[in-house]
Amino acid sequence: MKITIIGAGIAGLTVAISLRKFRPDLELEIYEGSPELRAAGAGLALGANAILGFDHIGVKTEVLAASNVLECFKILDPKGRVITQSDNLVINRNLQTISNFAVHRADLQQVLLAQLPGVAINLCKRVWDFRQVENEVQICFADGSSTRSDYVVATDGIHSIFRKKLLPESKIRFAGYTCWRGVVGGGEDLPSFKNLRGLNPATASETWGLGKRFGIVPLPNDRIYWFACLNSPKAKEERFAAFGKQELLENFGELHAPIPEIIQLTDPSKILWNDILDFSPVKNFAFDRVLLLGDAAHATTPNMGQGACQAIEGAVILGKTLAKIADPQAAFQAFEQVRLKRTALIVNRSWQLGKLAQLANPVLAALRNGVFRLVPDQMNERQVKELLDVEF
Ligand SMILES: Cc1cc2nc3c(=O)[nH]c(=O)nc-3n(C[C@H](O)[C@H](O)[C@H](O)COP(=O)(O)OP(=O)(O)OC[C@H]3O[C@@H](n4cnc5c(N)ncnc54)[C@H](O)[C@@H]3O)c2cc1C
Repeated sequence: MKITIIGAGIAGLTVAISLRKFRPDLELEIYEGSPELRAAGAGLALGANAILGFDHIGVKTEVLAASNVLECFKILDPKGRVITQSDNLVINRNLQTISNFAVHRADLQQVLLAQLPGVAINLCKRVWDFRQVENEVQICFADGSSTRSDYVVATDGIHSIFRKKLLPESKIRFAGYTCWRGVVGGGEDLPSFKNLRGLNPATASETWGLGKRFGIVPLPNDRIYWFACLNSPKAKEERFAAFGKQELLENFGELHAPIPEIIQLTDPSKILWNDILDFSPVKNFAFDRVLLLGDAAHATTPNMGQGACQAIEGAVILGKTLAKIADPQAAFQAFEQVRLKRTALIVNRSWQLGKLAQLANPVLAALRNGVFRLVPDQMNERQVKELLDVEF
């Protein structure tokens, strides 16, 4: 019996590891549209739920070795004053769990690939169309070739061709803000966070200005991952395409130190730019012999740092479901039952959090900050508890 995975992002690779572990009897094939496997030059926050997931597929030690522990997360105002903070050490002790971590995407990709010796990843194989016939799925690639498989796990990302065909009513939403990302430090000739005032390597932060936000996430090896979100009237706004360091400094340079320094230190050729997109929660992930997973199924805005974490959870749960239910079609249905509600909750909450974080009205932003300052610690703890409430 053959399962074909489409897309070798975090979701596809983690699904492959999970299937190898829980259903080694299944033949596995991976097709990836890009000519090479190259992760974005950016960081990724890994919530404790993702780390617990990695533990179930035997990769936790390797992932943690490539990651930086985050003991604290702070939301700051433009002058650097704390609006609210969540002390992961205390929360972890209370909930008896582990912390959150941050990893460079390329490092995570290497860790995942190292777990898949002997699994061929077919590159330059962009799926162009597919068809489910009685006993199989026929897959056509853009290069004119085709293949067949008994089952497909579509992990082809937010613009999934599978979702477009299976759920044509599901439309991409622009969140109203756009995002630049970068990584600084790490090399001998490059400055590290040690040179930057007021940065703690175990603390991640977001600074909320008016209609703008700047995040700082320390990575291992003296590197800092940063992101900068700015409200935008529309997706693909032409003037943002030309944004370089100068324009970022003009927009974020008034925020507290060391934000201007971090922008200044970034190699401009390595700055990434993306609009923030998602789509409303869908009603199905399982379609007979095809299952949507990861961003293809439930892309979310990055405000909770949960997009990849949900893909990781899903990959682990799919493997475990297949270990219990031998028939993939039935397992896909069972998977859908347990994953729809949780992922919808995260997509919706993340969307709302983004709206709050990007408030541009000074009165509303001041009100928001005032309310957040009053949030008791137990509330942060309750949110972490909810995120950890996943049955693998
Ligand atoms: C600015 C930003 C910050 C984020 N920060 C975080 C964070 O801190 N923590 C977190 O958990 N998540 C975060 N996310 C979300 C996270 O990046 C995604 O949820 C995650 O990468 C999704 O992985 P995926 O494998 O499902 O999709 P993708 O990473 O998009 O992978 C899809 C793969 O499929 C391939 N593909 C696409 N179409 C085809 C096709 N037709 N045929 C064959 N192959 C195809 C692509 O080339 C790609 O390799 C962030 C997202 C953004 C935009």
